[in-house]
Amino acid sequence: MTRLQAGFLLALFMLSLNLLLPLMGGRWMDATSALYERDEDLLERSELLLSALVDGETGQRGFVISGREDFLSPLYQGYAEVDQLLQELQILLADDPKLLGQLEALRPVLAEQRTYFDGVIGLRREQGMQAASELISQGRGKRLMDSIRLQVDHMQGELKSRMTVLEQRREWQQQIVMGLLVLIAILDLAVIALLFHFTFRTLREGKKSRQALQSLSEQLSSGMQRLELRNREISLLSRMAGALHSITRFDECYSIVGRFAEQLFPQNTGSLTLYHPSRDVLEDVAHWGNWTQGSELFEPHSCWAIRRGQSHQVADPSKDLLCPHLEGTPMAAHSYVCVPLMAQGEPLGVLTLAGENPADLELAEAFAEQVSLGVSNLSLRESLRQQSLVDALTGLHNRRFLDETLRRELLRASRKQSAVAVVLLDVDHFKRFNDTFGHEAGDLVLRNLALEMKRNVRTSDLACRYGGEEFALVMPEISREDAIDRCEALRVAVSRLQVRYGGQPLGPINISLGLAWFPEDGSEMDRLLHAADTALYQAKRTGRNRLCIYSREMDGAEEAPSS
Ligand code: GH3
Ligand code: MG
Ligand code: MG
Repeated sequence: MTRLQAGFLLALFMLSLNLLLPLMGGRWMDATSALYERDEDLLERSELLLSALVDGETGQRGFVISGREDFLSPLYQGYAEVDQLLQELQILLADDPKLLGQLEALRPVLAEQRTYFDGVIGLRREQGMQAASELISQGRGKRLMDSIRLQVDHMQGELKSRMTVLEQRREWQQQIVMGLLVLIAILDLAVIALLFHFTFRTLREGKKSRQALQSLSEQLSSGMQRLELRNREISLLSRMAGALHSITRFDECYSIVGRFAEQLFPQNTGSLTLYHPSRDVLEDVAHWGNWTQGSELFEPHSCWAIRRGQSHQVADPSKDLLCPHLEGTPMAAHSYVCVPLMAQGEPLGVLTLAGENPADLELAEAFAEQVSLGVSNLSLRESLRQQSLVDALTGLHNRRFLDETLRRELLRASRKQSAVAVVLLDVDHFKRFNDTFGHEAGDLVLRNLALEMKRNVRTSDLACRYGGEEFALVMPEISREDAIDRCEALRVAVSRLQVRYGGQPLGPINISLGLAWFPEDGSEMDRLLHAADTALYQAKRTGRNRLCIYSREMDGAEEAPSS
């Protein structure tokens, strides 16, 4: 049962008390009043009795004096009245033994008085007034009357004292009832106040619980929103991871990172910086939002995240430690976070997120982890690709790489309308090195030749091992003269090489070279290589250790080179 229900029950109880108390109090006082009225009635009757007796005595005296019979009628009427009153009093005092006893004690005296009156009346009639007066003067009549009066006085005294008691009782009953009524009124007020208190308290509690319920529902809905946001973030992260997994180029990687970062951190601007292959600086590879940076390159120790190998959060730029690479930039005006990109314990770079609202660190770290995975995967794939494109023996690029690069180079040259020289070269009588000094000596010759080639080409040139003891040279944007000079210089330099194997000189190394021109000798790669090969064949055929430049006439030559 609640307090409010208990309060209402109490109020109902008080209401019934309000009804019952005046009712019961009235009855209680009525009973006293009834007793009082009865005693009053008895008193009145006793007075009537006395007055009837006095009337009778007066009538008897009048008869004695006058002798007239009609004077006796009040006496006889008094007798009848007295009998009548005695009968009534007997009935009324049936349950009052004390007064009934007094009444009964009166009866013989009354009877005696009547006998006395009859005697006086008889004497008057028979012997005249003188005799009757003498009898009267003896004083018996007076004594009887006094005795009767005394007894009636006793009864009346008893009645009066009872009435006094009843009157007092009625007074204190009245006071008690009044007191109780006042008390109940006070209690009524108290119960009403209590009810008010409980009602307002219940209302207040109801309001409070409604507010609590509302805040709970708000919490629930904000929790749902957070959950939805988390779901979206997770789905974006997994989509980004999928995209990063299926790309092959770094520029694609950076654009994907930028695009997803904008969606994941809409309130922040940010950048992705990665280690340069030289590992001495970090360079900005992607940025989003209103990113403005001091410089595109910074040293690793100017970022606290890199130095400490953990996220560096700056909530208040005026108090927290700022990364030197952001100092003086608008990014350092607000809160920011730098999260290191790690792969197998090694830092790959830094993710920086800045803005008035601090970025969610947990999300930023998850994002950085996915980006690290993507970048390291791509690096791994790139290095594998690089490995697959490099010849293990000489360290030069292999024929696959040549195929890829030459195709691109020719497209570029045709766009720029520039020339490309393509040279194929082959070691003369290479078999002899193998046969005379062994296969490893042959390998040594190939390695030395490769070194010499690297020394003789420009950075824009491409030197590859074409297969076996054949090599290729691609020299873009070069004049005929320069190309020929370079080929000659290489041939001479190789011929001057003095390679020793196990302390033993291997003798001179000669090479034959065939040169073809783009676009004159072929606009397609295969055609161009074929032309260079034809020229090389020509060099072999015409005595080796020389450079031959392709001309269309060579296509008809069928004769094999002499050994
Ligand atoms: P020519 O002047 O006509 O080019 O004569 P050659 O002996 O150089 O030509 P040939 O094609 O007869 O011989 C090439 C030899 O090169 C055959 C092969 O055993 C050897 N060779 C191919 N690749 C390698 C290699 O990687 N290492 C070594 N040691 N020898 C190789
Ligand atoms: Mg050969
Ligand atoms: Mg050869």
